[in-house]
Amino acid sequence: MTLKVGIPRALLYYYYVPMWQTFFHELGAEVVLSSPSTKGILANGLKHAVDEVCLPIKMAFGHVLDLAGKVDYIFLPRMVSIKKREYICPKFLGLPDMVRCLDGLPPLIDINVNLYKSKKNAFFAAKEVGKLFTGNYFKISGAYRYSLKTQKKYFKLLQLGLLPDEALAGLEDGVGNKPRPGQGQFTVALLGHPYNIYDSYINMNIIRRLRAMGSNVVTAEHLSEQVVRSCAACLPKKLFWTLGQRMIGAAFHYFKRRDVSGIVHVAAFACGPDSMTGELIAREARAAGMPFLNLTLDEHTGETGIVTRIEAFMDMVRWRNAGVS
Ligand code: SF4
Repeated sequence: MTLKVGIPRALLYYYYVPMWQTFFHELGAEVVLSSPSTKGILANGLKHAVDEVCLPIKMAFGHVLDLAGKVDYIFLPRMVSIKKREYICPKFLGLPDMVRCLDGLPPLIDINVNLYKSKKNAFFAAKEVGKLFTGNYFKISGAYRYSLKTQKKYFKLLQLGLLPDEALAGLEDGVGNKPRPGQGQFTVALLGHPYNIYDSYINMNIIRRLRAMGSNVVTAEHLSEQVVRSCAACLPKKLFWTLGQRMIGAAFHYFKRRDVSGIVHVAAFACGPDSMTGELIAREARAAGMPFLNLTLDEHTGETGIVTRIEAFMDMVRWRNAGVS
């Protein structure tokens, strides 16, 4: 019998789904993704998560619940660190324990992913997970290597200027692997955690709205690790959150680019890392005289308010480009 593994379409799904999906496929499992975010998924997440957590974690609860009854396992790794000597937000760490209290869920695959000391730990984690599906060490190790290759291809597609869903389609059929030609009059850098900027339900379709208002959209994922890291190194003190570093590095890079006319930072209410990175980016934007918009999202954020603020921001971009101060 083919085992079904559920992957919630939330949090680091937007970075690592090609690798996770390939790994499980290679081990002979069927992968089931939760449905794209909807009002119902969020409502279910809100009902079951504690009030204190941020919106993306509440949404992750909803996605986990969406998989209940459909799969044999839910893959919810305990993400501690994805880079040597750096951490990611502690809420990722606590998520499997918070979720375990929910009724009616299949067993969780909540392996620790902690690369703080060494990258090799990723393989150890994969080995542990692989043992649930096969006793064949070579099969696990082959699946792991192939999944890394697929992940590399995905990151390359993102760096060509594609968005995650376009890059995933590109991996599937090789058709979507051409960069989308910029058709807008302006270019705006959209920065934020991947689960905030690429989940169009959470951010109320911000990318589509910016494009409809005449702007091309670039993100941190369109830049290479090397560019992001070297720009983030301008900070007097290194940020120890990997995702925060990406945002800061990308912001510093886009401040220097003449073709970029403004920056939008999407933050989650009650997010510690976002409040700090948002403030750092806002200060630099003021110093550089670049139009800047900070959008903070929570479950009460209204669509009308978001649209009004994006329109006002795009007016600033137009005035700046027209030389009106
Ligand atoms: S980094 Fe912020 S938005 Fe992301 S999980 Fe942590 S608190 Fe939530």
